[in-house]
This record gives sequence, structure tokens and C-alpha cells, in this order.
Amino acid sequence: MNMETLLVRAGMEKDNTTGAISTPIYQSATFQHPELGISTGYDYSRTANPTRTALEQAIAALEGGTKGFAFSSGMAAITTVLFLFKPGDHLVVSEDLYGGTYRLLAQVFHELGITASFVDTSCIEKVEAAICPETRALFIETPTNPLMKITDLRRITDLAKARDLLLIVDNTFMTPYLQQPLACGADITLHSATKYLGGHNDTVAGLVAVREEELGERIGLLQNACGAILGPQDSWLILRGIKTLAVRLERQQQNALALAQWLQKHPEVEAVYYPGLPEHPGHHLASEQASGFGAMLSFSVRNSDLVPRILKNIKVITFAESLGGVESLITFPARQTHADIPEEVRAQLGITDRLLRLSVGIENIDDLLIDLEGALRC
Ligand SMILES: *Cc1c(COP(=O)(O)O)cnc(C)c1O
Repeated sequence: MNMETLLVRAGMEKDNTTGAISTPIYQSATFQHPELGISTGYDYSRTANPTRTALEQAIAALEGGTKGFAFSSGMAAITTVLFLFKPGDHLVVSEDLYGGTYRLLAQVFHELGITASFVDTSCIEKVEAAICPETRALFIETPTNPLMKITDLRRITDLAKARDLLLIVDNTFMTPYLQQPLACGADITLHSATKYLGGHNDTVAGLVAVREEELGERIGLLQNACGAILGPQDSWLILRGIKTLAVRLERQQQNALALAQWLQKHPEVEAVYYPGLPEHPGHHLASEQASGFGAMLSFSVRNSDLVPRILKNIKVITFAESLGGVESLITFPARQTHADIPEEVRAQLGITDRLLRLSVGIENIDDLLIDLEGALRC
């Protein structure tokens, strides 16, 4: 089946009792045993719940993995995956990544003796140089957040294999519709399903898919042991979101490219970061390893005084944290998503007080352009 069809059919297991088209929401904490030693396959909803199972099977199928897992948030998914490691272990991580992942590694797992080096993973030589005898995994985002740098999935997979490291890819920005890291050889792919998969800015959720069964068993144990699972109602909402992912993303990408091209020509705009622009350094690579460029873009304005004025005057595009929904959102990374990254590190990365990030939605493009035009003129 093609990806669009797989997406629509997410969770459409045949319901022999009623024939329901939509996955039933099993709002049950526990399940009756027919007799001693016999189970329906469901015992207790932390371990497994049928609505969550439908979502977990869907993400495994979409990512081409053997097993999928649903968590109460993207951070819960990442935390659970990081429990694969033990004190003394080291990870090499994309330097320009989701601020919450940085905070989790720098402020929580660091205290537990699990350390990380943050490097520009779009440069394989830098990744290689950061690997030490204690390194157990590479953790990347491609494109990165918010500067949209592209890491070569093939080359980083080869490096991970050669050094016997796990490769973990946060695929939130691309979704399996545009990019499938497991097919390139990554071991684990994960998502903040709060973003594109849910798609409506109404649910917080996290998903994981793994390539190999043995690793799936370890994550299954951790999911049940740690218990940061997604509830049945929210599992259903994410399943419903997934069904329209292809049409949403197609429209979002089309709008994103139009906005990027328009911003590029604006006199107040200094730089536009969007892999869909031919000038973007990762454009060619992105076009090879993904089937689209996504709908996230960042831009910097010439004068930092303009930032508060834009955020105050923007009307259709909403000033809010998060991304991936049908509504366009504008974020100020230095103060919002990336505030926990120390200022000097931010400055080094280029996450300045002149940088804004756009998550482009499905609105009419003219309304978005008029909105930005007005806000940039103020
Ligand atoms: C939002 C986000 C997360 C965290 O997910 P939550 O659902 O907010 O916990 C992780 N990675 C990326 C790339 C994100 O955008």
C-alpha cells in the first residue's frame, strides 16, 4: 500500500463485533480474565490498551519498524528511550535541537551520569571526532531545530554501524510521510506526535518505532516499567490526526515554500532557513533523503527591535510555542523553545534575538502573506 493509503487506514483494524470504522476508545484500566492462565491479550492498560495498540501498530507500519510505542508526550518518549543507557554512557547529539531534549540531557540525564556532546551533525567529521570509547549512541534531528540543517542519514548510519552505536532519529519535523529513518538503517525513530501527527494543536503525545525486535522488547519493558503511556482518548485523537497527514503536509509545504520565497525578497529580512530553497546548503541532500522539505522555516530580521513589533502585530499567524498543526504559528526560539540553552551556546549556534521560527499551516497563502507583510511593516 502507498503511504497516503496507509495513513488513512491507521487504526482501521476490523472490528468483528460491531464493524466500527473508527477505532473504539477502550476507556478501561483493567480487563477481565476468562479463566486462570488465559488472557484476551489485555490485562492492565499501562501494559497494553487496545486503542493505544492500534496507534502503536500504525506508527510501526508507517515508519517501517517492527514495533511501535505511544507515550504521554514527546519528552516521555525520549526519556524512556534514554533509559536504555546506564551511568558512564555517552551520546553524540545534534547541537541545534529541540530545547526540551537539550534540557533533559544537560539537566536530568547528566546528573545520572549519562553524558552528551552536542555537535553539528550535518558535518560527519565532527560527529566522528566527538565519538569516544564510552559513546553508545548518536541522537539526531534532521532538519535541526530551528536552523534547519540537514544531516546525511546514509553517512551517519554507516558511521553508527561501523562504531557499533545506536542511531536515534527525532523525526518530528519530517514525519514518516516525508522521511523514513529506519529504512535508511536508523535503529529508533521517535516523534513528538503533538506536532504533525496529531496536527491540530489539541493533544500532547509521543511515539517511538524501532527497526529490530530485540530492541523493541527492551523499549516495551521500559514503557511498562516507567509507565509514561498515552491514554486511550489521546491515542484516538492521534490516530484521527494521522489519517489526514498527507493532505495537510502537502498544503503546508506549498505554503511554506511560498512564504520562504517571499521572505527572501523582503528588505527587513536578513536570512531565510528553509531546506526547500535551492540556496539552502542542505537542499540537495534533503531532496535525496526525504520526499519533501516540510513546513518549518526560520528567518532572521536585520534589526532585533522588529521582533517584538512583529510578534505584537501578527494576526492570522499566532504567536505561540509548538508546531505542526493546521494553524500557522510563530515562535521566538531564543525566548521560548530554546530558552534553556545557555546564551553563549545559543549565540554560537546562531539562535539570536533576531531569529523567528514559523510553523506554516494550511490557511490560504494570501492571508499569510498579507499578515506577514503588515507585521514586517510596523
Ligand atoms: C515538541 C518537540 C519535542 C517534545 O515533544 P512534547 O510532545 O512537547 O513533549 C521533541 N522533539 C521535537 C523536535 C519537538 O518539536
